[in-house]
Amino acid sequence: MTAIPAQNSAFRAYCGLRCDRCEVYLAGQHGGEQARTTVARNWSARYGWNLTGADIHCSGCRNTGGEQFLFCGNCTVRQCAIKRSPSGCAACSQAICALLTELIALEPAVQKEHDQLQAELKNGAVLSAVGKSEEE
Ligand code: SF4
Ligand code: SF4
Repeated sequence: MTAIPAQNSAFRAYCGLRCDRCEVYLAGQHGGEQARTTVARNWSARYGWNLTGADIHCSGCRNTGGEQFLFCGNCTVRQCAIKRSPSGCAACSQAICALLTELIALEPAVQKEHDQLQAELKNGAVLSAVGKSEEE
């Protein structure tokens, strides 16, 4: 099997989103207080949440050693995929299910990332070990 380039598979959320490109991840890991406050303001406006800079931290969807951002830690898609499809929704026989459809309605970027990852998996690609599943 051909491995998906690390750039593409590292820190893939179960839904398919790229955690390594996520504003919460980047500001939390590499940004200062101002960056975290800006992301909190932007994401509160975008999703109707009430975040502060202190909420802006995440170690990635598949990182079992760290904490996830509020929404992602409680994400029903994540909880489902951990049990049902550790490689992620793109490898799940149920996709695209009602849970994922709901998430896509909230965050349309999931659809594009899911479709791209599904196509890669169908072509024989595999996720790298960078983002370990909680079942491993
Ligand atoms: S799990 Fe964390 S890094 Fe990944 S999309 Fe969610 S908030 Fe961003
Ligand atoms: S049932 Fe839906 S949410 Fe669960 S792993 Fe499959 S596609 Fe993802």
